[in-house]
Amino acid sequence: MSDTHLHLYPHRKGDPLPPPPPERYSLAHIEQYVDMAMRRDVTELTFTEHLYRCVESTGALGNIWERASDPSIRANTEYDLRADRTMSMERYVEVILEAKRAGLPVLLGLEVDFFPDTIDAVLDLIEPYPWDVLLGSIHWIDGWWFDRAHSEFEWERLGPRRVYERYFEAMAEMAASGTVDVITHPDRVKYLRKPFRTEQIDLYGAFLAAAQQSNVAIEINTGGLRHPVHEIYPSPSFIRMIHEAGLAITFGSDAHAPKQAAWGLDLAREEAAEAGFTHRARFVARERTMVPFDAPPPSFMD
Ligand SMILES: [Zn+2]
Ligand SMILES: [Zn+2]
Repeated sequence: MSDTHLHLYPHRKGDPLPPPPPERYSLAHIEQYVDMAMRRDVTELTFTEHLYRCVESTGALGNIWERASDPSIRANTEYDLRADRTMSMERYVEVILEAKRAGLPVLLGLEVDFFPDTIDAVLDLIEPYPWDVLLGSIHWIDGWWFDRAHSEFEWERLGPRRVYERYFEAMAEMAASGTVDVITHPDRVKYLRKPFRTEQIDLYGAFLAAAQQSNVAIEINTGGLRHPVHEIYPSPSFIRMIHEAGLAITFGSDAHAPKQAAWGLDLAREEAAEAGFTHRARFVARERTMVPFDAPPPSFMD
């Protein structure tokens, strides 16, 4: 079993802080994640830091908050984003490669926010590095951080149905682009709460068709169990639809601290098995292979 979604430290929100201390980029820090994952019977870890948290991404991604027309939303997004954009991509890549060389069972990935107008610049920026996998994610709708309590008022203004429509339009566009290997937390729009009595499954269809077209894999992400919604991303019916669409899956804890490594992946695997899945996708050097759920751990000795 593999955890294919981990970050080096928690999100920084609000007032600016100095850049992260060197311990965050140390081999000892990575070892803590590996030790915790091993205790949860997970024998491979793919780190997938957020590109937007890296200072190097400023030019390529631009000022995401400027996509919002409402001044409060712009201010809220800018405030949190500036606080969080203090990481060094160079040092992140370096410590994961160092861990690989030291024989730790880790792989190098990146979580990339998809915007149609910045993705080419992003791909140019990250091209020189030896990525094993690229995750694609949607955390904003037009510069609005839809999962942050500070901008919750926008849910009311747009109405939940419109929010969901806009979110899944962005997801379908990302899936169709064929620019990433895995789509992460597919129904993250439910982060704060589920606003409907019945699931809006009609909105999944266009996204799944786009995913089929590009053959992108979809991630089952247990971060949602730690978020206010208390549910895995995506929902059980969504997982079934992913299986019916013939798409491949990966599993990720979305850990932002060592203690969260591989957290809840046993539950995620149970839900996937219930939906009919028997294999997961594994990405090395952005090449995909299919691995049975009960396969022995991969060798990191060569
Ligand atoms: Zn994410
Ligand atoms: Zn993440």
